Amino acid sequence: MTGDFSIQPNQEQAVDFVWRQIYGATTEPPAIGWRQADCGKPVKWFDGYYEEHTGFVDDYECKGGFFQAYPRQINLVKKDRLFRTALAHELYHAYLNDTTGDADQDHKGISWLHQSDPSQGDVDGIVETARKHLIEAGY
Ligand SMILES: [Zn+2]
Repeated sequence: MTGDFSIQPNQEQAVDFVWRQIYGATTEPPAIGWRQADCGKPVKWFDGYYEEHTGFVDDYECKGGFFQAYPRQINLVKKDRLFRTALAHELYHAYLNDTTGDADQDHKGISWLHQSDPSQGDVDGIVETARKHLIEAGY
């Protein structure tokens, strides 16, 4: 297990919202290990929030998050707000793994589509829908 497993503000409500209400999961959600950002390009968000780094180094790569089945957990960059993290994305890998045995780490399914990617059509998949709900809910 890697990361800081302390519960962040709104974490339980946000996880329950995405995991049970949007994805319809019936299993327990994975543990979340929080990591400090130390790599990646700076980003300025729509609300003006500025991030110096967006990822953490793991296995020689800069990642915003990942899911692993054993031990079952997700790792995410610790940020001021949950909607800025890959929470919805990594929970969906866990959900797929629980329900199909394949976490779809290569994002081949239609669930990962989002409107802002012109090559992907014009409909949001469930992951992007969940992410937008996190923003709307103020998490
Ligand atoms: Zn992914």
